[in-house]
Amino acid sequence: MKLKVGFAGMGIMGKPMALNIAKAGHVVTVYNRTPLLPESIPGLTVAGTPLDLAHTSDVLLVMVTDPAAADHVIWGEDGMAHALAPGKTLINMSTVSPAYTTELAAKVKATGAVFVDAPVSGSKPAAQQGALVILAGGPKDTIEALEPIFSCLGRKVVYCGEAPRGTMMKMSINLLLASMMSGFAEMLTFGQAGGLSREAMLDVVLSGPLGCDLFKIKEPLITQDKYLAQFPLKHMAKDLKFVTDTACELRCPAPSAFQNLQFYNQALAKGMGELDFSAIIQVLEAML
Ligand code: NAP
Repeated sequence: MKLKVGFAGMGIMGKPMALNIAKAGHVVTVYNRTPLLPESIPGLTVAGTPLDLAHTSDVLLVMVTDPAAADHVIWGEDGMAHALAPGKTLINMSTVSPAYTTELAAKVKATGAVFVDAPVSGSKPAAQQGALVILAGGPKDTIEALEPIFSCLGRKVVYCGEAPRGTMMKMSINLLLASMMSGFAEMLTFGQAGGLSREAMLDVVLSGPLGCDLFKIKEPLITQDKYLAQFPLKHMAKDLKFVTDTACELRCPAPSAFQNLQFYNQALAKGMGELDFSAIIQVLEAML
């Protein structure tokens, strides 16, 4: 079945995701705060406002930076909310906090529309290849019915429970991601201080049992010392703030998340927010 899909947020993730939905034959209209060059989004119709997007579409996806950006496209003056009603489904795929998702779910439900909490695991390459892992929270029947859309975006949908469990899963996976990345950076900095070459260390990690997709994807960036963003560092700082806030609310230990938030805040203070989050190695190197 071909669906009328509206997609807000044509950033690193949103653009390839919207293009993949259109490739499957769905009618896709998009909105981005900053006007887009038509040649960058072949086959997609552009809406002037999020409200226009919501009027023309039944399934609305939001993939923007953070709660402030989601509020702008949903609840702003020309926001989608004015067109939300029974029969529409709003899927937030942006990474926000569980507290924000809980509030968003209640507010969307009050309009009569259905809300789905569906952040993703996987970065730019997975978004381009339609190989994301979708962490879905919300009504199970709706999530199952969304298979024609989710199958364009991801290789797997993991049902996490009611909202905000999708976001809670995303917080959990990004806690691990930050911890793995800073462990990798720490290992490389430590070995370098002891006279090892970065190339030899990367070879050892990637040839043995610790070699994983994350380290393989980040290897070229680290080798070239050029951190063109796949997952911008400012987004990891944002997510670690959500993780630590949530850990405080739950009175749950998250020691590495608090420590990593400090590293990422330091990186932001150095003006590194637009770099890939693997550039965190430069913060450690600066401490040598
Ligand atoms: P991005 O490239 O920085 O794009 C952000 C998008 O949000 C852009 O379309 C931007 O519009 C829009 N936006 C920002 N502030 C806005 C506002 N106040 N009002 C309206 N629109 C606004 O980010 P991304 O990498 O695609 O990430 C999007 C979300 O997915 C984030 O929550 C991120 O944490 C999450 N995520 C990212 C990755 C990744 O690897 N990149 C992986 C998984 C999840 P403009 O073009 O006008 O700035």
